[in-house]
Amino acid sequence: MANKKQNNTLESLPKGTDLLHDPLFNKGTAFSNQERRLLNLEGLLPPHVLNLDEQKMKVLETVRAKGTDMEKYIYLMSLQDRNETLFYRLVTDEVEEFMPIIYTPTVGQACQEYGHIFRRPRGMYICRNDKGFIKGILQNWRRKNVDVIVVTDGERILGLGDLGADGMGIPVGKLSLYTVCAGIHPIRTLPITIDVGTNNEELLNDPLYIGLRMKRLVGEAYDELIDEFVEAASEVFPKVLIQFEDFANQNAYRLLNRYRNNYCTFNDDIQGTGGVILAGLLTVMRYLKSSFQQQRILFYGAGSAAIGIAEDIASKMVMDGASMQEAKEKIFFFDSRGLVVKGRDHLNPNKEKFAHEIEGESNLLEAIKKIKPTIIIGVSGQAKVFTKEVIEEMARLNDRPVIFALSNPTTKYECSAEEAYQWSEGRAVFASGSPFDPVEYKGKTFYPGQGNNAYIFPGVGLGTVISKSKYVVDEMFIIAAQTLANMVGEEDLAMGRMYPSLKNIRNISLNIATAIAEYAFDHDLAQVPRPENIRQHIKEEVYQPEYKSYV
Ligand code: NAD
Repeated sequence: MANKKQNNTLESLPKGTDLLHDPLFNKGTAFSNQERRLLNLEGLLPPHVLNLDEQKMKVLETVRAKGTDMEKYIYLMSLQDRNETLFYRLVTDEVEEFMPIIYTPTVGQACQEYGHIFRRPRGMYICRNDKGFIKGILQNWRRKNVDVIVVTDGERILGLGDLGADGMGIPVGKLSLYTVCAGIHPIRTLPITIDVGTNNEELLNDPLYIGLRMKRLVGEAYDELIDEFVEAASEVFPKVLIQFEDFANQNAYRLLNRYRNNYCTFNDDIQGTGGVILAGLLTVMRYLKSSFQQQRILFYGAGSAAIGIAEDIASKMVMDGASMQEAKEKIFFFDSRGLVVKGRDHLNPNKEKFAHEIEGESNLLEAIKKIKPTIIIGVSGQAKVFTKEVIEEMARLNDRPVIFALSNPTTKYECSAEEAYQWSEGRAVFASGSPFDPVEYKGKTFYPGQGNNAYIFPGVGLGTVISKSKYVVDEMFIIAAQTLANMVGEEDLAMGRMYPSLKNIRNISLNIATAIAEYAFDHDLAQVPRPENIRQHIKEEVYQPEYKSYV
């Protein structure tokens, strides 16, 4: 369950200084006088008792006074280490302000500097040397009731590449979003980094790097390690949901296919991205008063994210009556070697599926002239590749060119919101991966969409956890996308928004979780009895960042 009420009897709680150092139970200055007496806290806190709202006011003032986003990140992480309730109260209430700090873009910089800003460990590290002992190591985790694990091997952190064990900021950040956005209890989450080494020379030579000084493990030995981890995690934490995060392209799809039918697992970079971008495009179709059948979609980048999005668009088109062949004809890929065309050497099966019987082309602008796309989607991690010429050509070909510049963090975007609006003379429909502020152009305000995976994965995860679904299936992401798109109201459309406001994220996740749990119950995937009213049941289960009285 997401939040079986924690049974915090006085006897089970740590006491005195130990309690103040336990972030899950610590309330700091909010312990009442009676709690202070019974929990051996007298003399350990200043006498004036504050409530949660007053504490929030204080930390908000402190974090806003920090000079840079990195300082804010460090402050928020130490608050999380000190008092999780206060941390979650702050970030949940001010989600639009702090999501870009605890997640992309700031988390990207945090991972790049992880060893240097490291203060306290959070989550677990499994090393390649732990082979044969992983189950025992996982048993060292204090809590046994873990519902969600987010795991990375650090090889493709956002668009920043191999950051090895320093990638730990990602599972930590994603699991914070599970709590903030969906209300999964923090006690039931576990971030894990599998340290298989790194090929990043800079890190290997950095005395403060936190990981193993070894090159990456590859091949059979790598697969055996991951197999052992998945098996051990599912044994130590029965029915746990394992989310794979920021694995490199050559492993992401392979591992997803290896485990998806035997374990409760999904890959957010592939499936979550597919869901959130499909949702954005469904809204775009409302703007354009058009359908996917009328579009030609060109992906710049053909990795995990591109494949995930393309698969979801194709599935949606098939659900709407097209054949798979018709769907594939609308979708084109351009990768580091140019257009993905039939007969090109070494095409993996995922790309092969979307390869066209046309001539190759290694220049993006020329490829656009040839294919005449209505939509271009940047997911290559290559900054600034949607140049003025590219956007102008899209604007020449289309009344409303659709430009998605999804690479993260902000340093990697293909073009900025401002560039897309300016170069298309205000006609672009634009979305990005990292957030952009609204843009003023010729007296009009444009609201860029943010295809943030946080719209999708927390709700899908919550629905899976609530129903104890055996597996996470592709259909769930299409359902999540449709549910999200349905929440874009007429008011949002009038303002040019592609996604509902993040302020509404708890409600969005609740709607998605309800739809996912319903699907699991209807399709014989659930492993718990069906509650009478699923939505009401989820509402009662979710974690709210409030203090509970211990006496
Ligand atoms: P990936 O490593 O799996 O794929 C990258 C792809 O880009 C590969 O196909 C590669 O061939 C291609 N590529 C690399 N250099 C290129 C070049 N010079 N020209 C053309 N193509 C090139 O990575 P991914 O998981 O697909 O993620 C890619 C980017 O998308 C990252 O920056 C990531 O942060 C971003 N992303 C955004 C969202 C979102 O906005 N919701 C979600 C997932 C990923």
